[in-house]
Amino acid sequence: MSACIALLVAAGRGSRLGPGTPKQYRRLAGEPILRRAAAVFLAHPGIDGVRVVIHADDGEAYREAVGDLPLLAPVPGGATRQDSVRLGLESLEAEAPDRVLIHDAARPFVAAAVLDQVIGALDEWDGAIPALPVVDTLKREATPTKGGRPPASAGTVERAGLWRAQTPQGFRYGPILAAHRAMVGRALTDDAAVAEAAGLQVAMVAGDEDNLKVTTEDDLRRGERLLADAFEIRTGMGFDVHRFCDGDHAMLCGIPVPHTHGLLGHSDADVGLHALTDALLGAIGAGDIGSHFPPSDPRWRGAPSEVFLRHAASLVTEAGGRIVNADVTLICERPKIGPHRDAMRARIAELLGCAPSRVSVKATTTEELGFTGRREGIAAQAVAAVRMPESL
Ligand code: MG
Repeated sequence: MSACIALLVAAGRGSRLGPGTPKQYRRLAGEPILRRAAAVFLAHPGIDGVRVVIHADDGEAYREAVGDLPLLAPVPGGATRQDSVRLGLESLEAEAPDRVLIHDAARPFVAAAVLDQVIGALDEWDGAIPALPVVDTLKREATPTKGGRPPASAGTVERAGLWRAQTPQGFRYGPILAAHRAMVGRALTDDAAVAEAAGLQVAMVAGDEDNLKVTTEDDLRRGERLLADAFEIRTGMGFDVHRFCDGDHAMLCGIPVPHTHGLLGHSDADVGLHALTDALLGAIGAGDIGSHFPPSDPRWRGAPSEVFLRHAASLVTEAGGRIVNADVTLICERPKIGPHRDAMRARIAELLGCAPSRVSVKATTTEELGFTGRREGIAAQAVAAVRMPESL
């Protein structure tokens, strides 16, 4: 069988998901959307190569997203999606594949069965697209819409025979390249429209409701629900001790608690935050506080321990995880923790970027037994749970 190349269009700016990273580079359950989409095409036996068309400014984001995936070298796109597709097609002239599949990089849930059908239809057709019949009744809004009020319906649109087009849209390579060259400057909404305008015959094969285009925050959440089975809960525990020294307060869970002594340590000796930092690092298998912030490093002398906890929380986020809950137990006879408990919970929640209801701070004594009972120091235990993508 002659060659089939997939062209993923990722040159858009994706502004509807807010400023910053274009949507195709956003992470969905820990993995960039573009990488998920590219992996589907790479894994399909009917596809011989995958090339991504990127925005000229996105080279670094692209490399970070695709990592070591064996893709063809990316090519820069143009001012519009249509321009980007044409430039992508031009870049394949030397390879001159028999077939090409053009796909929105923001559709990471395309199923292999959809690819089978699109590729298969090209045996008989110039082009083939996945599409779904419109089932909802269609309304046209009255214009103009008054600000703040919902739009009025100006009537019902006949939906019989209407379909919603998805991607990948597959074509014989020569004819679609010629069509794109002929349609430069005409604003057409998809590649099938370019093909139709050039007189090519395009088949509609069965699309898939899950083959959604991730455009808004709602889509991101829907995408995460589709992947919900791919999440698991992991837990970690931490334990720490610091001895008392001269001083008039102890830093405990981010709060300066007045006391007859301070706590001795290289940093601010916040025993509660140290235990919790270790619990988070433990949950994601990322070593311990000493490996990230060696006591031998003068940078951490007197450091506020919130730096350590924030770092551990950011590692969880970068790995696509989310903190489920954190539970800290402080073990000492004095100072009394109770009056400060709510402030501690609020502070930890702030540092972790989660709701205070997900944070617990408890205290206990050891009935005057052992070193905590003799008031030589304070111990702390912590447990944390995180929700992580199973694939990582
Ligand atoms: Mg410590």
